[in-house]
Amino acid sequence: MSVRPRWRARRELWRFAMPAMKTFSIKLRFLLAAIVAASGLSACIRLANRDGAAPGAPNSAEVKPIPPPEGRLAPVARYGQLSVKGAQLVDAKGDPVVLRGQAFGWDNWWPQYYNASVVQWLRDDWCVDAVRPAMGIEPGGAYLSSPDASKRRMTAVVDAAIAAGVYVIIDWHAHKLHEKEAVEFFSEMAERYGKQPHVIYEIYNEPEKDETWPQVKAYATAVIAAIRRHDPDNLVIVGSPEWDQRIDLVQADPLQGQVNVMYSVHFYAATHKQWLRDRVQAAVSAGIPVFVSESSGAEASGAGPNNFEEWKAWTDFMEKNRISYLDYSVSDKAGETISVLQPGASSSGGWSEAQLTESGRYWRALLRSHCQ
Ligand code: MG
Repeated sequence: MSVRPRWRARRELWRFAMPAMKTFSIKLRFLLAAIVAASGLSACIRLANRDGAAPGAPNSAEVKPIPPPEGRLAPVARYGQLSVKGAQLVDAKGDPVVLRGQAFGWDNWWPQYYNASVVQWLRDDWCVDAVRPAMGIEPGGAYLSSPDASKRRMTAVVDAAIAAGVYVIIDWHAHKLHEKEAVEFFSEMAERYGKQPHVIYEIYNEPEKDETWPQVKAYATAVIAAIRRHDPDNLVIVGSPEWDQRIDLVQADPLQGQVNVMYSVHFYAATHKQWLRDRVQAAVSAGIPVFVSESSGAEASGAGPNNFEEWKAWTDFMEKNRISYLDYSVSDKAGETISVLQPGASSSGGWSEAQLTESGRYWRALLRSHCQ
């Protein structure tokens, strides 16, 4: 049978092309299958990470845009002189106030962040109402051995907060009683800052287990008396034994005859759960004013994963009870969950999301969600 040359050429072409096309088609199918499998696997990994490591952790898409700083009223301009009415912190008009903010890490270990640029950045980008410089007392290089350097770091942040219009908690970051030194220090601070509505005195960060409430109470009475000689009205925050968790002891025997005193409770959500919220609820319901001057989502040691479920239970609880709260802390300790900064983050603020840790990103987003 004769075949016309043109037709034969086509047939020849087809004969050679067919196997190549078949091979290509099989490869294509393999490639498509591989792409589908890979994207499915990656979605599963993303889901597992979100569910396992960080439920409720915000991603950058959820971070709320906030008005520019010049379009906002600074917190102290908004609320003015604070005072305490019953268990509630109130503003100059007597209306309830919830302050939300950020605590610094120990000044003796993270001195690089004790400056005006960081305060300004926390106000502008994190929308803090309050900051809390933590003046270390006991470790080498802290207040007891280097009072002048410590005081310079503390006052740098206090002056910057006053200039920025945010509240500032002068935190005597001690774990033991040092009454004589505390009386002297707070006397000087009250004389210097007593007329500024910005300033709050936290006279004892965290008593430990070996100090009783009567001992802490006697100390508080002496330090408050020293403050009141110069400053009749600014807020004073008092700690309680066991790292500020024995608010039940305070409830049973609060300070008497004092004005504008609140009691600190510190929580680390992976350790301190519903039992501590119950204790706080009982105290607040009994009229004890509570201020959460330190908190975070990890374990009390500062390590371990953030427990976002418990952390959210705390923020919901504090909002419901109109309790003021700050996160801890502005520090860049490598591997520490509660540090809000990655190691080496700039000492002048301006931090990108990549320079924040998981807790830093979470807290910044939370503060911004309340920005006015
Ligand atoms: Mg005053």
